Amino acid sequence: MDIRRDISEILKKYGHEAIYIRRNKKFRCDCYSERSGGQSYDNCPKCFGTGYTVTIEKIRTRRQISSVPESLVRARKQYEHGYVAANAYVYYLEQQANPKDGDLILEVDWRNGVPVSVNEKNIISVGDPLRGSGGRIEFYKVYSRFEPTRKSDNNAITYH
Ligand SMILES: [Zn+2]
Repeated sequence: MDIRRDISEILKKYGHEAIYIRRNKKFRCDCYSERSGGQSYDNCPKCFGTGYTVTIEKIRTRRQISSVPESLVRARKQYEHGYVAANAYVYYLEQQANPKDGDLILEVDWRNGVPVSVNEKNIISVGDPLRGSGGRIEFYKVYSRFEPTRKSDNNAITYH
């Protein structure tokens, strides 16, 4: 039994394409300023508000609505000033996706295989590696939380 191959087949059949925004934590985005107390420029058209340089990857995934732990609801309150209509998803990703906390998964509209607008922005809370009998990582179960999209996210997706 090859779980990696099974997951890949399942995602091919039942998955959908999304965008993975990977932060390069060695390099801050141009918008990041030490003087502003580490806040990145809110409408930055490059980094999706992460404050880091990022790479954009097309991924195949499948997701489910997850019940939202209280800790995530609190995080969400801070982001959205009391708006708690919680939408959180669990994403299933192949092992090579190697998801990291704080990276983003975007649900987008596609035109000719190219992302043209951002519908949803989900921040990864934790990427849980699921291991096979030999200890090898077979796939990831990724817990995410919802963040409102900004106008500049659409610019960012076409900037790269
Ligand atoms: Zn930026």
